[in-house]
Amino acid sequence: MAISNCEKCGNLFNKTVKNICPNCLKEEDQMFETVKKYLKKNKTVTQIEQISEGTGVSVELITKFFREGRLQSAGGSEVSYGCTSCGTPITTGKVCKHCESNLTQLQSTMKQTEKPKTEAQPISFYSRIRN
Ligand SMILES: [Zn+2]
Ligand SMILES: [Zn+2]
Repeated sequence: MAISNCEKCGNLFNKTVKNICPNCLKEEDQMFETVKKYLKKNKTVTQIEQISEGTGVSVELITKFFREGRLQSAGGSEVSYGCTSCGTPITTGKVCKHCESNLTQLQSTMKQTEKPKTEAQPISFYSRIRN
């Protein structure tokens, strides 16, 4: 079992799949339910700020719920939130289309430049110290 510090309150806990302790997880779940209920009642809301005002849940946390894809099906309208990378408003996923293609490009270049690790080290003739 791995012991880890909770991302939110800093308490030590037995790490599971989440980075936060059971107490904070419970709190987050309650907030999630609050936001979900709010979205069901207010189907025309499209701004995270509006939801935050209406529920008292922080913009940060609501954004996280959306990024995790947990709130996608809850509301009737599409709520936009910032792209993780550049902040462009998006309604699905974690990054905007532009950043997504950038990331894919970056990943393929990284693969191309990767050198094979099995290459033998050349033995130098001058490796011995001569006095
Ligand atoms: Zn905690
Ligand atoms: Zn972006």
